[in-house]
Amino acid sequence: EKGLMQGKRGLIMGVANDRSIAWGIAKAAHAAGARLGFTYQNDALLKRIRPLAQQVDAEVLEPCDVSDDDSIQAVFDKVEETWGQIDFIVHAIAYADRDELKDTYVRTSREGFLRSLEISCYSFTAVAQRAVPLMSEGGSLLTLTYYGAERVMPHYNVMGVAKAALENSVRYLAADLGNTGIRVNAISAGPIRTLAASGIGDFRYILKWNELNSPLRQNVTIDQVGKAGMYLLSDMSSGVTGEVHHVDSGYHTVGMMAVDNAPQ
Ligand code: NAD
Repeated sequence: EKGLMQGKRGLIMGVANDRSIAWGIAKAAHAAGARLGFTYQNDALLKRIRPLAQQVDAEVLEPCDVSDDDSIQAVFDKVEETWGQIDFIVHAIAYADRDELKDTYVRTSREGFLRSLEISCYSFTAVAQRAVPLMSEGGSLLTLTYYGAERVMPHYNVMGVAKAALENSVRYLAADLGNTGIRVNAISAGPIRTLAASGIGDFRYILKWNELNSPLRQNVTIDQVGKAGMYLLSDMSSGVTGEVHHVDSGYHTVGMMAVDNAPQ
């Protein structure tokens, strides 16, 4: 796919380490010729991210806490100063307090609910607002979601509610920004062992379940999400917006797998 993203400049938000989904997308974008910038949540993460950013010749590396409007604005000021315009943004950010992901949804606290919705849903809208002036030639915004938005998954709880809101915000943003040539889409990734996923109770069981009950009978990798990301970020998907694209080995299509699929 070399050349697919040639000349495109994009900001990758949400790399925590080399297991991050955002890193899978960044590697694919770099391989396809894109120029990249990165944001990281706080200084504690910088020593992990700096070598990754260097590996893909990053041209921007800025802190950004998406719960802080000034912090988001500062990043976009930096992007404008460096590149002027930008072609794509990957938003791979979510947060819920660990306590909210252990037990049942019904116990969700008001504070935990608001925090999760703010970081996991509103931040994408806040980012989109700042992206618009830098995408006067059009662009592509991509966020990450999970099947727990559509159906109940164990312990996903308030994150499922936040992802449902995020998926609908993808559709509203797509409608709002379509006439400016900005496309807005999401990838609904199957479960992947990452830092964020480690907060979800029984995650190993969820991984195993998905492996056994998906048509492809395997879990997806960050590289597979990265490759699918290139479709949504590049002109290959110029006719696509408001879409939630599943990269989940087909798991979401299945009601029940045949008995002969069961482990013997
Ligand atoms: P990850 O831990 O590598 O990435 C999550 C990122 O969110 C981290 O980089 C973290 O720093 C960032 N973040 C959290 N709060 C923030 C804040 N206030 N400001 C700025 N950044 C903040 O885990 P991941 O699994 O790669 O998660 C990336 C995205 O993919 C998330 O939206 C997640 O919900 C989604 N997703 C993950 C899975 C999975 O199974 N891992 C499946 C589907 C979707």
